Amino acid sequence: MKDKELKTMRKSFQTLFYRRKQLLNDPEIKKLREKVINIRKNSIENKEELLEIASQNLKSNDIDMYFAKDDKEANDIILKIIEEENFKVQDNSISKDNYISRSNSISKGNSISEDDSINKSYPIITVAKSKSNTLGEIAISKFLSSHNIEVIETDLGDRILQLKKTDNKPTHPTGPASHLNVNEIANIINETLKTNIEANPKAIMETVKGDVLKKLANCEIGITGANAITSQEGSILLIHNEGNISLLSLMKTHIIVAGIDKFIPSLEDAVSLAKLESVYATGKLTTSYMNIISGPSKTADIEKKLLKNMYGARKIVLIVLDNGRSRAISQCLMCIGCGSCIITCPVYDAVGNEFGFSPYLGGRGIAMASFIEDEEASFKSGLFHCTLCGLCTINCPVAMPTNELIEKIRANSQKQGFYPKSHGSINENIQKKGSPYE
Ligand code: SF4
Repeated sequence: MKDKELKTMRKSFQTLFYRRKQLLNDPEIKKLREKVINIRKNSIENKEELLEIASQNLKSNDIDMYFAKDDKEANDIILKIIEEENFKVQDNSISKDNYISRSNSISKGNSISEDDSINKSYPIITVAKSKSNTLGEIAISKFLSSHNIEVIETDLGDRILQLKKTDNKPTHPTGPASHLNVNEIANIINETLKTNIEANPKAIMETVKGDVLKKLANCEIGITGANAITSQEGSILLIHNEGNISLLSLMKTHIIVAGIDKFIPSLEDAVSLAKLESVYATGKLTTSYMNIISGPSKTADIEKKLLKNMYGARKIVLIVLDNGRSRAISQCLMCIGCGSCIITCPVYDAVGNEFGFSPYLGGRGIAMASFIEDEEASFKSGLFHCTLCGLCTINCPVAMPTNELIEKIRANSQKQGFYPKSHGSINENIQKKGSPYE
């Protein structure tokens, strides 16, 4: 990262650090923290059982659910759904049953066969996307773009980075453009949207909002992540401040991608988790919006007869992603994605988003790289740059022991030959001469 960007990032992080300081010392928040730590621990221990119960309840709520073992499967399922939905819009002569049977064919095999592909050419399709680490993990935007599908980021920070086109990695999970100052952002907007706005946050927000809303007018599919999925109710919780997820959830089709670690017992647990995440990520007790989705739009206002497809999505699809999670060290799955660990990390403070595994930033990203890919990926992401100071763990709402995980992963990585060469010669000297020195 450039020096100028690092300085802006540090300033943004400091603003957040002081905004939330008082709240973090509130005894009620400390109690909430203990509660959520227990919820996360129990949920990870019982994730198979929670997933099993949730599947039944999601199904009875009319939410379609697919399982994707990796990013490729998740992307293929999304592409297939988009193609089918677009096909449906274009060709009303195909009956609804046809689509149901096609959907079922995905769920059975979880893969798309050649025979199953729709041989029809389409105009450019636009889909709307919210900010989500899980969607970043499967690189959905890049994948869909390669299939001539335009993806519009609806989160302001993400949209700014999307318009930036180059050198546009995020620096914080909930504030992706924290490293860009208002002048740089105004320049990006003026260059790409051909506007002439001043370097003023409100002017930038209004311009980006207007442009995104224009694009969304032709958009019928929204893709989001999820903060939690509840087993008891078969509900999906999404939190946000901008209102964009509400817009996406009202589109005809809402596709949600979530890791197998997102299942928790109940809605009460989900709300506790969302409150704690909000405190650590934004310094506020709650986000502006908490959407709880428990099925497609429907009404029974006429003679109590059920009619589907009122104002909201007529089809909701949940894609449950493994992508290495089932073989992860269980503590790696504690994370609730607040970004608190990178705010206090001395290595991240020094080098920014070069430390981490995209899109998971900082030490926790390096830990996650070990199961999403392998130890080599952790090594390349900065495994040996960590100072092991433990500030990440102290400042984590769910006490994910990132520094301990890094030590474990270093041991595995070293066994596989991935360690800094200088460490190798120090090790050799100790073995041969009993001293690290030549
Ligand atoms: S590891 Fe902890 S502090 Fe870091 S993003 Fe995850 S929950 Fe937040």
